[in-house]
Amino acid sequence: MFKKVLIANRGEIALRVIRACKELGVETVAVYSEADRESLHVRFADDDVCIGRAPSRDSYLNIPRLIAAAEITGADAIHPGYGFLAENPEFAEKVSASNIAFIGPSPEQIRQMGDKAAARKLAKEQGVPTVPGSPGPVESLEEGQQVAGEIGFPVIIKAAAGGGGKGMRVANDVDQFTQSFTLAKQEALAAFNSDEVYIEKYLARPRHIEIQIMGDTHGKVMHLCERDCSVQRRHQKLVEEAPSPAVDQALRQDIGDAAVKLAEAIRYVGAGTVEFLLDPDGSFYFMEMNTRIQVEHPVTEMCTNFDLVKEQIAVAAGAPLSFVMNGHRLRGHAIECRVNAEDPSRNFQPSPGLITAYHPPGGPGVRVDTHIYAGYTVPPYYDSLLAKVIVHGNTRTEALARMRQALDSFIIEGVTTTIPFLGRVMRHPDFVAGKIDTKFLEREPHLLKDPT
Ligand code: ADP
Repeated sequence: MFKKVLIANRGEIALRVIRACKELGVETVAVYSEADRESLHVRFADDDVCIGRAPSRDSYLNIPRLIAAAEITGADAIHPGYGFLAENPEFAEKVSASNIAFIGPSPEQIRQMGDKAAARKLAKEQGVPTVPGSPGPVESLEEGQQVAGEIGFPVIIKAAAGGGGKGMRVANDVDQFTQSFTLAKQEALAAFNSDEVYIEKYLARPRHIEIQIMGDTHGKVMHLCERDCSVQRRHQKLVEEAPSPAVDQALRQDIGDAAVKLAEAIRYVGAGTVEFLLDPDGSFYFMEMNTRIQVEHPVTEMCTNFDLVKEQIAVAAGAPLSFVMNGHRLRGHAIECRVNAEDPSRNFQPSPGLITAYHPPGGPGVRVDTHIYAGYTVPPYYDSLLAKVIVHGNTRTEALARMRQALDSFIIEGVTTTIPFLGRVMRHPDFVAGKIDTKFLEREPHLLKDPT
């Protein structure tokens, strides 16, 4: 096992990794920007290093400083969390070249899946269904128009290097295509430094279903069933649950097998997520693979009783997988709501600032993963996730009731949060019935407004 793990991240995920390390008896190093001096991850780690100014590129994205921090503090491993450098193959490469273990897959595996067009191709070769679309990257507008004409509108143009819902544009017809194609390319270049794009058919009412997988260095890959992340805004997840109300045991097996097959094809090591779109007719299509721990991993933890972060660390240290999945059945039902410092009625405008009062919900089956406290100032520089509320119940009905009471008793004052909005989603008849898809919020814009 490692002696000391540096966490190259901030916020709730930094705390999550510190907790896992403590349970494993591993020391921890927090890194922080000048804006994060008062952060809890700094307080709870055994050691800490300030790595630079507030903007991410001067701190959490600065590879030489992160590696120097690990060397100075004698860390023998780095956990990247999610976001920032978690899926940056150069970072993984440089960490390994400095004789420090990277808690995640190899640089080659990150690279193979980081290029979404290449990952799509690999999925196809493995017999995993993909959304109809271009066989690879699309070079020119003319080629794009031809592909779009062949597969039929609407289509979605996606950045090959994309992530976080950026660099994606929908085109409903030929006229719109020209503009969407150009915009997607520009956005991709600005966000990912590559303007490579590919095209897919834009499905009308899909659900977002993803499979949690875990691989070890001994060649074993396992899946831990699905999460349903269909409540989205601008292609970004807001609510996640497991199991999916739309997936039965037979479908679970099929999607799970497809995910494992793909991961096995690249001898995947570590925690990963294979994302699919599920059509109302029951067909599913590979979308992309994320080669890291995800924000929504706790719903899987609640329904399996496994600690995915501890497992991730153990696997990186060379241990074999410790999971035994009982016939790939999940225990009860879990839901996660992402609480952000944002104002839904103002287009989710960020609301940083001082938290003047804070009281988290509790009771049986309620878990809150957060880094905030009364007196903490939410800095404007990073994403606006304040807390994740995760509930578990014996049934979906029980989990829903638990989530409603948890959200209703969650007090955060001083900044505007998405809590009231999430409460409305939890009461919407379509969500309660489990009958939603990724366009749910587009159809129900009134949910964004406070009715009073
Ligand atoms: P990112 O890497 O930016 O997260 P993804 O490829 O994972 O992007 O897609 C994010 C979301 O965009 C999906 O969950 C879905 O809501 C929507 N989406 C992506 N591709 C399609 C498609 N072909 N048809 C319909 N919706 C799509």
